[in-house]
Amino acid sequence: MHSRFARACSGAINTVSMEKTAQEKGLGVIGTGDFLHPEWLKELKSTLAQDGDSGLFLLKGSAGGTRFVLSDEICTVESVNGSSKRIHHCVLLPSFDAVDALAESLKRYGSLGSDGRPILSMGAAHLVEEVFKASKDAFVFPAHAWTPYFGVLGAMSGFSSVKEAYGDQAKRIQALETGLSSDPAMNWRVSELDRYALVSNSDMHSLGNMGRESNVLEIDGGVTYAKMVDAITNREEKGFRMTVEFYPEEGKYHYDGHRECGFSVNPEADSTRSCRVCGKPLVVGVLHRVNDLADREPGYKPKNAVPYIHAVPLLEVIAYALKKTKYSAGVRSAYEALIGRFHDEFDILTAARPEEIAEVAGDGIAQSIDNVRHERIRIKPGYAGVYGELDLLGRNRNSEAKPISQKSLFEFPT
Ligand SMILES: [Zn+2]
Ligand SMILES: [Zn+2]
Repeated sequence: MHSRFARACSGAINTVSMEKTAQEKGLGVIGTGDFLHPEWLKELKSTLAQDGDSGLFLLKGSAGGTRFVLSDEICTVESVNGSSKRIHHCVLLPSFDAVDALAESLKRYGSLGSDGRPILSMGAAHLVEEVFKASKDAFVFPAHAWTPYFGVLGAMSGFSSVKEAYGDQAKRIQALETGLSSDPAMNWRVSELDRYALVSNSDMHSLGNMGRESNVLEIDGGVTYAKMVDAITNREEKGFRMTVEFYPEEGKYHYDGHRECGFSVNPEADSTRSCRVCGKPLVVGVLHRVNDLADREPGYKPKNAVPYIHAVPLLEVIAYALKKTKYSAGVRSAYEALIGRFHDEFDILTAARPEEIAEVAGDGIAQSIDNVRHERIRIKPGYAGVYGELDLLGRNRNSEAKPISQKSLFEFPT
Protein backbone atom coordinates (compact mmCIF):
# COMPACT_ATOMS: atom_id res chain seq x y z
CA MET A 1 0.00 0.00 0.00
CA HIS A 2 0.90 3.60 -0.36
CA SER A 3 -0.50 6.72 1.24
CA ARG A 4 -1.03 10.07 -0.44
CA PHE A 5 2.49 11.01 0.75
CA ALA A 6 4.20 8.65 -1.67
CA ARG A 7 5.26 9.87 -5.09
CA ALA A 8 2.62 9.55 -7.84
CA CYS A 9 -0.09 8.51 -5.40
CA SER A 10 -3.68 9.71 -5.18
CA GLY A 11 -4.54 12.57 -2.82
CA ALA A 12 -7.75 10.75 -1.86
CA ILE A 13 -5.93 8.11 0.21
CA ASN A 14 -6.57 8.47 3.94
CA THR A 15 -7.46 5.95 6.63
CA VAL A 16 -11.21 6.55 6.30
CA SER A 17 -11.28 6.09 2.52
CA MET A 18 -8.96 3.10 2.87
CA GLU A 19 -11.33 1.35 5.24
CA LYS A 20 -14.35 2.06 3.05
CA THR A 21 -12.51 0.67 0.01
CA ALA A 22 -11.32 -2.40 1.93
CA GLN A 23 -14.93 -3.19 2.78
CA GLU A 24 -16.08 -2.84 -0.82
CA LYS A 25 -13.25 -5.10 -1.90
CA GLY A 26 -13.76 -7.73 0.82
CA LEU A 27 -10.39 -7.34 2.53
CA GLY A 28 -10.06 -8.15 6.24
CA VAL A 29 -6.53 -6.80 6.84
CA ILE A 30 -4.82 -4.02 4.88
CA GLY A 31 -1.42 -2.36 5.16
CA THR A 32 -1.14 1.26 6.24
CA GLY A 33 1.74 1.88 3.85
CA ASP A 34 4.38 4.58 4.33
CA PHE A 35 4.74 4.39 8.12
CA LEU A 36 8.13 6.12 8.00
CA HIS A 37 6.64 9.31 6.57
CA PRO A 38 6.32 11.73 9.54
CA GLU A 39 3.03 13.33 8.48
CA TRP A 40 1.38 10.05 7.53
CA LEU A 41 2.62 8.47 10.78
CA LYS A 42 1.06 11.31 12.73
CA GLU A 43 -2.23 10.69 10.91
CA LEU A 44 -2.02 6.95 11.56
CA LYS A 45 -1.44 7.54 15.26
CA SER A 46 -4.37 9.93 15.54
CA THR A 47 -6.90 7.92 13.49
CA LEU A 48 -6.09 4.31 14.39
CA ALA A 49 -6.45 2.51 17.71
CA GLN A 50 -4.80 -0.70 18.84
CA ASP A 51 -6.97 -3.78 18.42
CA GLY A 52 -6.21 -5.09 21.91
CA ASP A 53 -2.75 -6.61 21.97
CA SER A 54 -3.14 -8.18 18.51
CA GLY A 55 -0.44 -6.04 16.88
CA LEU A 56 -3.12 -4.81 14.44
CA PHE A 57 -5.14 -1.58 14.41
CA LEU A 58 -8.73 -0.43 13.89
CA LEU A 59 -10.09 2.86 12.58
CA LYS A 60 -11.21 4.94 15.57
CA GLY A 61 -14.97 5.54 15.70
CA SER A 62 -15.76 3.00 12.98
CA ALA A 63 -17.68 -0.24 13.44
CA GLY A 64 -16.25 -1.51 10.14
CA GLY A 65 -13.77 -3.93 11.68
CA THR A 66 -11.10 -3.68 8.97
CA ARG A 67 -7.69 -4.34 10.51
CA PHE A 68 -4.68 -2.24 9.59
CA VAL A 69 -1.15 -3.60 9.81
CA LEU A 70 1.71 -1.10 10.04
CA SER A 71 3.61 -1.37 6.75
CA ASP A 72 6.09 0.50 4.60
CA GLU A 73 8.01 0.10 1.35
CA ILE A 74 11.65 1.18 1.54
CA CYS A 75 14.21 1.62 -1.24
CA THR A 76 17.83 0.86 -0.37
CA VAL A 77 20.67 2.06 -2.56
CA GLU A 78 24.24 0.85 -2.16
CA SER A 79 27.26 1.23 -4.35
CA VAL A 80 29.18 -1.98 -5.01
CA ASN A 81 32.30 -1.86 -7.18
CA GLY A 82 31.20 1.40 -8.74
CA SER A 83 27.70 0.29 -9.72
CA SER A 84 24.68 1.31 -7.70
CA LYS A 85 22.30 -1.40 -6.57
CA ARG A 86 18.73 -0.58 -5.64
CA ILE A 87 16.05 -2.77 -4.11
CA HIS A 88 12.56 -2.12 -2.77
CA HIS A 89 11.61 -3.93 0.44
CA CYS A 90 8.31 -4.31 2.31
CA VAL A 91 8.44 -4.03 6.10
CA LEU A 92 5.67 -4.91 8.56
CA LEU A 93 5.85 -4.07 12.27
CA PRO A 94 3.48 -4.83 15.17
CA SER A 95 3.53 -1.51 17.11
CA PHE A 96 3.99 2.25 16.84
CA ASP A 97 6.88 1.93 19.33
CA ALA A 98 8.70 -0.29 16.82
CA VAL A 99 7.93 2.19 14.01
CA ASP A 100 9.30 5.08 16.10
CA ALA A 101 12.47 3.10 16.88
CA LEU A 102 12.98 2.25 13.23
CA ALA A 103 12.38 5.82 12.06
CA GLU A 104 14.91 7.04 14.63
CA SER A 105 17.59 4.66 13.32
CA LEU A 106 16.88 5.10 9.59
CA LYS A 107 16.66 8.88 9.41
CA ARG A 108 20.45 9.18 9.20
CA TYR A 109 20.44 7.23 5.88
CA GLY A 110 18.07 9.46 3.96
CA SER A 111 15.11 11.80 4.14
CA LEU A 112 11.98 10.14 5.50
CA GLY A 113 9.74 13.11 4.79
CA SER A 114 10.30 13.67 1.08
CA ASP A 115 8.55 10.54 -0.19
CA GLY A 116 6.36 7.89 1.43
CA ARG A 117 8.70 5.35 -0.14
CA PRO A 118 12.00 6.65 1.29
CA ILE A 119 15.29 6.15 -0.53
CA LEU A 120 18.01 5.19 1.94
CA SER A 121 21.76 4.97 1.36
CA MET A 122 22.39 1.60 2.92
CA GLY A 123 22.71 -2.03 1.93
CA ALA A 124 19.82 -4.49 2.03
CA ALA A 125 21.42 -6.57 4.82
CA HIS A 126 21.97 -3.47 6.92
CA LEU A 127 18.30 -2.49 6.53
CA VAL A 128 17.19 -5.95 7.70
CA GLU A 129 19.45 -5.66 10.75
CA GLU A 130 17.96 -2.29 11.68
CA VAL A 131 14.41 -3.56 11.16
CA PHE A 132 14.94 -6.49 13.53
CA LYS A 133 16.59 -4.20 16.07
CA ALA A 134 13.36 -2.18 16.05
CA SER A 135 11.30 -5.33 16.64
CA LYS A 136 12.20 -8.98 16.84
CA ASP A 137 8.74 -9.67 15.36
CA ALA A 138 9.34 -7.64 12.21
CA PHE A 139 8.39 -9.14 8.86
CA VAL A 140 10.49 -8.00 5.92
CA PHE A 141 10.56 -9.27 2.34
CA PRO A 142 11.61 -8.01 -1.09
CA ALA A 143 8.88 -6.06 -2.92
CA HIS A 144 7.86 -6.92 -6.53
CA ALA A 145 10.91 -9.18 -6.74
CA TRP A 146 11.21 -9.30 -10.54
CA THR A 147 10.66 -5.75 -11.74
CA PRO A 148 13.64 -4.54 -13.79
CA TYR A 149 14.91 -1.56 -11.77
CA PHE A 150 14.04 -2.19 -8.14
CA GLY A 151 13.19 -5.89 -7.82
CA VAL A 152 15.74 -8.02 -5.93
CA LEU A 153 15.90 -10.36 -8.94
CA GLY A 154 15.20 -7.70 -11.58
CA ALA A 155 17.36 -7.43 -14.68
CA MET A 156 18.90 -4.07 -13.65
CA SER A 157 18.95 -4.26 -9.84
CA GLY A 158 22.38 -5.88 -9.80
CA PHE A 159 21.59 -9.15 -8.02
CA SER A 160 20.78 -12.66 -9.20
CA SER A 161 19.65 -14.26 -5.96
CA VAL A 162 18.02 -13.34 -2.67
CA LYS A 163 21.11 -14.60 -0.84
CA GLU A 164 23.43 -12.40 -2.85
CA ALA A 165 21.27 -9.34 -2.14
CA TYR A 166 20.75 -9.86 1.60
CA GLY A 167 24.12 -11.44 2.46
CA ASP A 168 24.38 -12.58 6.07
CA GLN A 169 20.81 -11.44 6.75
CA ALA A 170 19.28 -13.63 4.03
CA LYS A 171 18.22 -16.22 6.59
CA ARG A 172 15.76 -13.69 8.02
CA ILE A 173 13.96 -13.35 4.70
CA GLN A 174 11.03 -15.77 4.66
CA ALA A 175 8.83 -14.41 1.91
CA LEU A 176 9.01 -12.71 -1.45
CA GLU A 177 6.46 -10.58 -3.26
CA THR A 178 5.86 -11.89 -6.78
CA GLY A 179 4.68 -8.50 -8.09
CA LEU A 180 2.10 -7.77 -10.77
CA SER A 181 4.13 -8.99 -13.76
CA SER A 182 4.80 -12.50 -12.45
CA ASP A 183 2.56 -15.15 -10.91
CA PRO A 184 3.52 -18.05 -8.63
CA ALA A 185 3.92 -20.53 -11.51
CA MET A 186 6.66 -18.37 -13.00
CA ASN A 187 8.44 -18.26 -9.60
CA TRP A 188 8.14 -22.04 -9.16
CA ARG A 189 10.64 -22.40 -12.00
CA VAL A 190 13.44 -21.04 -9.78
CA SER A 191 14.43 -23.65 -7.19
CA GLU A 192 16.10 -21.08 -4.89
CA LEU A 193 12.64 -19.61 -4.27
CA ASP A 194 11.08 -22.81 -2.86
CA ARG A 195 12.06 -21.71 0.62
CA TYR A 196 10.12 -18.44 0.43
CA ALA A 197 6.40 -17.88 0.88
CA LEU A 198 5.20 -16.15 -2.29
CA VAL A 199 3.04 -13.22 -1.24
CA SER A 200 0.89 -10.96 -3.39
CA ASN A 201 0.03 -7.38 -2.52
CA SER A 202 -1.52 -4.54 -4.47
CA ASP A 203 1.24 -1.86 -4.37
CA MET A 204 -1.75 0.48 -4.46
CA HIS A 205 -1.17 4.05 -5.68
CA SER A 206 -4.90 4.81 -5.86
CA LEU A 207 -7.87 3.34 -3.99
CA GLY A 208 -9.33 1.56 -7.01
CA ASN A 209 -6.26 -0.67 -7.18
CA MET A 210 -6.51 -1.87 -3.59
CA GLY A 211 -6.58 -5.68 -3.45
CA ARG A 212 -5.71 -6.19 -7.12
CA GLU A 213 -3.36 -8.79 -5.67
CA SER A 214 -4.00 -10.27 -2.23
CA ASN A 215 -3.41 -13.19 0.13
CA VAL A 216 -6.13 -15.52 1.43
CA LEU A 217 -5.36 -16.73 4.95
CA GLU A 218 -7.36 -19.03 7.18
CA ILE A 219 -6.82 -18.13 10.82
CA ASP A 220 -8.55 -19.71 13.81
CA GLY A 221 -9.98 -17.29 16.38
CA GLY A 222 -9.30 -13.59 15.93
CA VAL A 223 -6.63 -12.43 13.52
CA THR A 224 -3.44 -11.09 15.07
CA TYR A 225 -0.19 -9.83 13.59
CA ALA A 226 1.66 -12.92 14.83
CA LYS A 227 -0.92 -15.37 13.51
CA MET A 228 -0.97 -13.60 10.16
CA VAL A 229 2.81 -13.75 9.72
CA ASP A 230 2.81 -17.34 10.92
CA ALA A 231 0.07 -18.37 8.47
CA ILE A 232 2.12 -16.89 5.62
CA THR A 233 5.52 -18.27 6.56
CA ASN A 234 4.60 -21.65 8.05
CA ARG A 235 3.35 -23.43 4.98
CA GLU A 236 3.20 -26.85 6.66
CA GLU A 237 0.14 -25.62 8.56
CA LYS A 238 -1.86 -24.79 5.41
CA GLY A 239 -3.17 -21.51 6.82
CA PHE A 240 -2.00 -19.73 3.66
CA ARG A 241 -4.82 -20.86 1.42
CA MET A 242 -4.35 -18.99 -1.80
CA THR A 243 -3.20 -15.82 -3.51
CA VAL A 244 -5.21 -13.66 -5.89
CA GLU A 245 -3.04 -12.63 -8.82
CA PHE A 246 -3.08 -10.04 -11.53
CA TYR A 247 -2.72 -11.78 -14.88
CA PRO A 248 1.08 -11.37 -15.22
CA GLU A 249 0.64 -10.31 -18.84
CA GLU A 250 -1.34 -7.31 -17.60
CA GLY A 251 1.60 -6.15 -15.44
CA LYS A 252 3.74 -3.24 -16.59
CA TYR A 253 6.96 -5.21 -17.02
CA HIS A 254 5.94 -8.59 -18.44
CA TYR A 255 7.53 -8.37 -21.90
CA ASP A 256 10.72 -6.60 -23.01
CA GLY A 257 10.20 -3.27 -24.68
CA HIS A 258 10.76 0.43 -25.09
CA ARG A 259 8.02 2.67 -23.81
CA GLU A 260 8.86 5.84 -25.74
CA CYS A 261 8.67 3.98 -29.04
CA GLY A 262 5.66 1.82 -28.19
CA PHE A 263 7.79 -1.19 -29.06
CA SER A 264 7.65 -4.59 -27.31
CA VAL A 265 8.76 -8.16 -27.96
CA ASN A 266 7.98 -11.58 -26.56
CA PRO A 267 11.41 -12.67 -25.28
CA GLU A 268 10.49 -16.33 -25.79
CA ALA A 269 9.94 -15.77 -29.50
CA ASP A 270 12.39 -13.01 -30.37
CA SER A 271 15.93 -12.64 -29.02
CA THR A 272 16.37 -8.99 -29.97
CA ARG A 273 17.82 -6.86 -27.18
CA SER A 274 17.42 -3.48 -28.84
CA CYS A 275 14.51 -1.37 -29.96
CA ARG A 276 13.67 -1.73 -33.66
CA VAL A 277 12.44 1.85 -33.73
CA CYS A 278 15.32 3.78 -32.09
CA GLY A 279 18.05 1.17 -31.63
CA LYS A 280 18.41 1.69 -27.86
CA PRO A 281 18.59 -1.27 -25.46
CA LEU A 282 15.20 -2.65 -24.42
CA VAL A 283 14.00 -2.74 -20.83
CA VAL A 284 14.31 -6.42 -19.96
CA GLY A 285 10.98 -7.56 -18.57
CA VAL A 286 9.96 -10.12 -16.00
CA LEU A 287 9.28 -13.04 -18.37
CA HIS A 288 12.76 -12.69 -19.85
CA ARG A 289 14.40 -12.44 -16.45
CA VAL A 290 12.53 -15.48 -15.10
CA ASN A 291 13.71 -17.47 -18.12
CA ASP A 292 17.30 -16.32 -17.43
CA LEU A 293 17.25 -17.42 -13.78
CA ALA A 294 14.98 -20.48 -14.07
CA ASP A 295 16.50 -23.89 -13.47
CA ARG A 296 13.22 -25.73 -14.14
CA GLU A 297 10.86 -26.05 -17.09
CA PRO A 298 7.51 -24.22 -17.11
CA GLY A 299 4.81 -26.24 -15.38
CA TYR A 300 6.93 -27.44 -12.44
CA LYS A 301 5.06 -27.23 -9.13
CA PRO A 302 7.01 -27.49 -5.86
CA LYS A 303 5.78 -29.34 -2.81
CA ASN A 304 3.90 -26.95 -0.45
CA ALA A 305 3.07 -24.60 -3.32
CA VAL A 306 0.23 -22.25 -2.38
CA PRO A 307 -2.57 -22.26 -4.99
CA TYR A 308 -3.65 -19.10 -6.76
CA ILE A 309 -6.26 -17.65 -9.06
CA HIS A 310 -5.97 -14.89 -11.65
CA ALA A 311 -8.35 -11.97 -11.38
CA VAL A 312 -9.00 -8.62 -13.02
CA PRO A 313 -10.13 -5.77 -10.73
CA LEU A 314 -13.87 -5.18 -11.07
CA LEU A 315 -13.46 -1.51 -12.05
CA GLU A 316 -11.31 -2.60 -14.99
CA VAL A 317 -13.81 -5.27 -16.03
CA ILE A 318 -16.66 -2.76 -15.98
CA ALA A 319 -14.59 -0.13 -17.81
CA TYR A 320 -13.77 -2.65 -20.53
CA ALA A 321 -17.37 -3.84 -20.89
CA LEU A 322 -18.80 -0.31 -21.00
CA LYS A 323 -15.95 1.08 -23.16
CA LYS A 324 -15.34 3.83 -20.62
CA THR A 325 -12.37 4.84 -18.51
CA LYS A 326 -11.87 3.21 -15.13
CA TYR A 327 -12.58 6.38 -13.14
CA SER A 328 -15.62 7.60 -15.11
CA ALA A 329 -18.96 8.19 -13.38
CA GLY A 330 -20.72 5.46 -15.37
CA VAL A 331 -18.19 2.85 -14.31
CA ARG A 332 -18.41 3.95 -10.68
CA SER A 333 -22.20 3.73 -10.62
CA ALA A 334 -22.20 0.22 -12.13
CA TYR A 335 -19.59 -0.74 -9.52
CA GLU A 336 -21.71 0.61 -6.69
CA ALA A 337 -24.82 -1.14 -7.98
CA LEU A 338 -22.96 -4.45 -7.94
CA ILE A 339 -21.44 -3.90 -4.50
CA GLY A 340 -24.92 -2.96 -3.24
CA ARG A 341 -26.41 -6.20 -4.49
CA PHE A 342 -23.60 -8.62 -3.62
CA HIS A 343 -21.36 -8.81 -0.62
CA ASP A 344 -18.10 -7.36 -1.93
CA GLU A 345 -15.81 -7.28 -4.97
CA PHE A 346 -14.21 -10.67 -4.34
CA ASP A 347 -17.67 -12.22 -4.06
CA ILE A 348 -18.64 -10.69 -7.40
CA LEU A 349 -15.42 -11.72 -9.13
CA THR A 350 -15.29 -15.26 -7.81
CA ALA A 351 -18.68 -16.50 -6.62
CA ALA A 352 -21.75 -14.54 -7.78
CA ARG A 353 -23.84 -16.26 -10.48
CA PRO A 354 -23.40 -14.65 -13.91
CA GLU A 355 -27.19 -14.54 -14.42
CA GLU A 356 -27.55 -12.46 -11.26
CA ILE A 357 -24.67 -10.17 -12.20
CA ALA A 358 -26.36 -9.62 -15.57
CA GLU A 359 -29.61 -8.59 -13.85
CA VAL A 360 -27.82 -5.79 -12.04
CA ALA A 361 -25.16 -4.74 -14.53
CA GLY A 362 -25.98 -6.18 -17.94
CA ASP A 363 -24.74 -9.05 -20.09
CA GLY A 364 -21.42 -7.49 -21.13
CA ILE A 365 -20.16 -7.16 -17.56
CA ALA A 366 -21.49 -10.59 -16.57
CA GLN A 367 -19.89 -12.27 -19.58
CA SER A 368 -16.58 -10.46 -18.98
CA ILE A 369 -16.46 -11.62 -15.36
CA ASP A 370 -17.25 -15.19 -16.41
CA ASN A 371 -14.53 -15.08 -19.07
CA VAL A 372 -11.94 -13.85 -16.54
CA ARG A 373 -12.90 -16.67 -14.15
CA HIS A 374 -12.35 -19.27 -16.84
CA GLU A 375 -9.24 -17.65 -18.37
CA ARG A 376 -11.14 -17.13 -21.65
CA ILE A 377 -9.48 -13.79 -22.26
CA ARG A 378 -6.68 -12.31 -24.28
CA ILE A 379 -4.08 -9.80 -23.20
CA LYS A 380 -1.60 -7.75 -25.15
CA PRO A 381 1.25 -8.00 -22.63
CA GLY A 382 2.61 -4.98 -20.76
CA TYR A 383 6.23 -3.81 -21.16
CA ALA A 384 8.67 -1.12 -19.97
CA GLY A 385 6.12 0.58 -17.71
CA VAL A 386 3.07 0.18 -19.97
CA TYR A 387 0.21 -1.94 -18.61
CA GLY A 388 -1.05 -4.87 -20.68
CA GLU A 389 -4.26 -4.39 -22.66
CA LEU A 390 -7.18 -6.62 -21.78
CA ASP A 391 -9.54 -8.17 -24.27
CA LEU A 392 -12.26 -9.81 -22.18
CA LEU A 393 -14.94 -10.29 -24.83
CA GLY A 394 -12.88 -11.16 -27.90
CA ARG A 395 -13.60 -7.76 -29.42
CA ASN A 396 -10.21 -7.29 -31.03
CA ARG A 397 -9.42 -8.65 -34.44
CA ASN A 398 -10.83 -11.74 -35.99
CA SER A 399 -10.27 -14.72 -33.73
CA GLU A 400 -12.52 -15.87 -30.95
CA ALA A 401 -11.17 -15.57 -27.44
CA LYS A 402 -9.04 -18.50 -26.44
CA PRO A 403 -8.05 -19.51 -22.96
CA ILE A 404 -4.69 -18.23 -21.86
CA SER A 405 -2.70 -20.74 -19.88
CA GLN A 406 0.37 -20.53 -17.70
CA LYS A 407 2.45 -21.88 -20.56
CA SER A 408 1.29 -20.12 -23.65
CA LEU A 409 -0.40 -16.81 -23.92
CA PHE A 410 -2.74 -16.21 -26.79
CA GLU A 411 -1.66 -12.87 -28.09
CA PHE A 412 -3.19 -10.34 -30.36
CA PRO A 413 -2.03 -10.92 -33.91
CA THR A 414 0.49 -8.24 -34.80
ZN1 LIG B 1 8.35 -0.52 -5.28
ZN1 LIG C 1 12.93 2.79 -28.91
